[in-house]
Amino acid sequence: MKPFEEFISRAKGAVDVIGEKAGQLVDVSKLNLKLIELKSELKSEFEGLGRMVYECSEENITENQKITTQIQLIKQLNKEIENLKKQIAFAKNKVLCKSCGHHNDMDSSYCAKCGGSLKTDTKSEKEAVEDDFAEFDD
Ligand SMILES: [Zn+2]
Repeated sequence: MKPFEEFISRAKGAVDVIGEKAGQLVDVSKLNLKLIELKSELKSEFEGLGRMVYECSEENITENQKITTQIQLIKQLNKEIENLKKQIAFAKNKVLCKSCGHHNDMDSSYCAKCGGSLKTDTKSEKEAVEDDFAEFDD
């Protein structure tokens, strides 16, 4: 396994552990993780595009459908990354309901969708999360 992929799979494991404990934290973490994946994908698609352009110049091809398709793919990825950044900004200011997953305003005490309590002992949860991260710090 390549170091980067190993990092992703380890980080995913960490997120799953936290998921059972802290609703809001896990949501932002998962979005951030997705953002890392998309940025990595974008990087490799750009590399692919570079290779295609090079191959075309070698073969004296001026127009290539593959290049056009690749550029569309990169544009799509950029859009997804922008959307994800917006979602992360949104999720950071919201409290995720543990029962139904609904995003509530930061100062809400009860879920607007299912009525479940959103009150948590944030201090102890923060400590629990840090403990979980410490396990991956080897
Ligand atoms: Zn709810």
